[in-house]
Amino acid sequence: MAKSLTPTKQVATPNLLIYTDLDGTLLDHHDYNFAAAEETIELINQLGIAWIFNTSKTLTELLTLRETLNNQHPMIVENGGGIAIPAGYPLTLPPQQDQTLKSSATHRADQNFQLITIGKQREHILETLEPLRTQFTFTGFSEMSVTELVVLTGLSTTQAEKALQRDFSEPIIWLDSEEKFEQFEQIITEHSLHLLRGGRFIHVIGNSNKGIAMRWLTSLYHQTKPELKTVALGDGENDIAMLEEADTAVIIRSPVHNPPQVRCKNKILTKDYGPNGWSHALQALLVEFNH
Ligand SMILES: [Mg+2]
Repeated sequence: MAKSLTPTKQVATPNLLIYTDLDGTLLDHHDYNFAAAEETIELINQLGIAWIFNTSKTLTELLTLRETLNNQHPMIVENGGGIAIPAGYPLTLPPQQDQTLKSSATHRADQNFQLITIGKQREHILETLEPLRTQFTFTGFSEMSVTELVVLTGLSTTQAEKALQRDFSEPIIWLDSEEKFEQFEQIITEHSLHLLRGGRFIHVIGNSNKGIAMRWLTSLYHQTKPELKTVALGDGENDIAMLEEADTAVIIRSPVHNPPQVRCKNKILTKDYGPNGWSHALQALLVEFNH
């Protein structure tokens, strides 16, 4: 077992702010297990370090997971499309951005989160897509039933229900020609949206990504703690913007694909896969930041 840091005596909170991808990073690529990271999570929580999910998942998909992982912090959802801030969390919206955000921020009373739009709200995305249906053939989550999504993805019914509850993006399946796809992409860009290619779906989202949302959220933490240094952990192409935004990038080795090419002064490529790599890298950084 690797040497680990344990808070046997009262230590000051290291000046760290952690952003983490989930699938293939904190959660094992094959079975979503995170047992290897549990001890480190407990330590991070005991040290009072904010650690933030930065993921393609929806807020609804994350609600159970954040309880299981004992995470009480904001979450960047839907590939940076938006941020969910728990009610009462000690962060203040910057005054210069408050104005714009007020019109786009919604509050879900049932879940006690304030949702901040960084890209575009899903209704806006759907309104943009609607007239394009006369020119192009595609289908999206907004037209799919839970059963259809289960058949398409192999998700369980509960998982599919949660994946359909979206706030900042619309996954589509392209059913038209490659040539028409180029035209479609151009029109999407003209509407200040962009396309993000995933494994099965193409995600239509606003002009945001995991890095832009991370920068925005970090600026809120820096208002009261400008000394905070950011660490980002991720394994995939859609993590590059987040990793390049960080003071220290931790590239988590994947059992199924090559590590993404990241331009960052301080970067670490883990020796181990998924949660093992996650845990070892953070243990080492915690030791480093305690000196
Ligand atoms: Mg990943």
